[in-house]
Amino acid sequence: MKFSEMNIEKSVLDSLVEIGYENPTEIQKETIPLIKEGHDVIGQSETGSGKTAAFGIPLVERIEKNGKIQALVLAPTRELSEQISRELMKFSKFKKLNISCIYGGVSIEPQISNLRHSEIVVGTPGRILDHIQRRTLDLRNIKIFVLDETDKMLDMGFIDDIEDIVRNVPKERQTLLFSATMPENIFRLRDRFTRNVKRIKTQTKVREDLLEQFYFDIDQNKKFSLLVHVIKKEEPNLSIIFCNTRVEAENVSKNLRRNKINAEVLHGGISQYRRNQIIEEFHKGKIEILVATDVAARGLDIKNVSHVFNYSIPKNSEDYINRVGRTARAGKSGKAISFLAKIDHQAFQEILNKYRPKVEKLETPRFPDLPFMKREEYRRFNRGFHPRRNHRFRSY
Ligand code: AMP
Repeated sequence: MKFSEMNIEKSVLDSLVEIGYENPTEIQKETIPLIKEGHDVIGQSETGSGKTAAFGIPLVERIEKNGKIQALVLAPTRELSEQISRELMKFSKFKKLNISCIYGGVSIEPQISNLRHSEIVVGTPGRILDHIQRRTLDLRNIKIFVLDETDKMLDMGFIDDIEDIVRNVPKERQTLLFSATMPENIFRLRDRFTRNVKRIKTQTKVREDLLEQFYFDIDQNKKFSLLVHVIKKEEPNLSIIFCNTRVEAENVSKNLRRNKINAEVLHGGISQYRRNQIIEEFHKGKIEILVATDVAARGLDIKNVSHVFNYSIPKNSEDYINRVGRTARAGKSGKAISFLAKIDHQAFQEILNKYRPKVEKLETPRFPDLPFMKREEYRRFNRGFHPRRNHRFRSY
């Protein structure tokens, strides 16, 4: 199917021709017709799947150029808000719609004057709410309300802000909710904000031809030593080591650094600002190894990740697919290597049953035994040997 066969308004179609979009992606194919019919939609697909156009094309079609704000799009970060605005501007090039991009950390005055003649508003929940409270954002004419990367917004604690915002949006509206994953609390939003919602889910695709998957059977207390051995042998370009918990991720990254392996940790307990910095450095290759939890690394779209290591196996089998899908991207090959101790077997079996991936067992090589220090032991260690550096560890 092509965009030209999807009954899209001419001005929007012309803009797609100009951008060079010819064929819709999976999520676009599924959601655009439903949105055009006026349904509320929950779209679940990962970052980079073309979600912005999935809601952006039918959204721009529905908006009239009349100086009234008719669409509100909420996004978790300033970067994503800007990205969405840019994309919507392209789709509305021939309709000449005005789009305001609203986020915190910058002066509010220019935003106030832009809002006076916009048809579409894109922004982060905190600053949007600020404008509502100042009465500088009139939402009475909203026809379409979009939540993008909803799971990330919830993860960042925006739930109350979102609820406050929705109270100001007319009940007669179309609600579109996009998310890479569907944690429990999304269902609360669905039940309260949507009517007769259609749920679309596109599969996270793993390129089995480009991704090689392996596993080791290994005692829990030898995992770390084997991990270090494998890293040294494989010499990954960029790699992500996945852990099931924040504490585990912290412990693994600290122990790697003790062994002179430069790793950075990424989990939900780290501030959004710092997380963005880390991801940026990883993008540029300044950091070569990320030790991450599922939430923090979800949807990461970085081309040169050559290896994914599963230090522990996720309880939710979908997370496994999301993890290994961080490598073998953009036509490049990749390896996923899982470290299975006894406690991981059940979760791994569920993954095998559900997805039937091609996974090969590797013989455990001989490797040097390394000590693995945990949180408490670090405290003692640092108190004993580096009293002045104690403060660095107090944040636990
Ligand atoms: P998104 O998931 O919306 O961030 O989109 C991911 C990337 O895919 C962006 O660079 C888009 O410009 C691009 N893209 C989205 N839809 C299409 C399409 N139908 N054809 C070609 N590229 C697309």
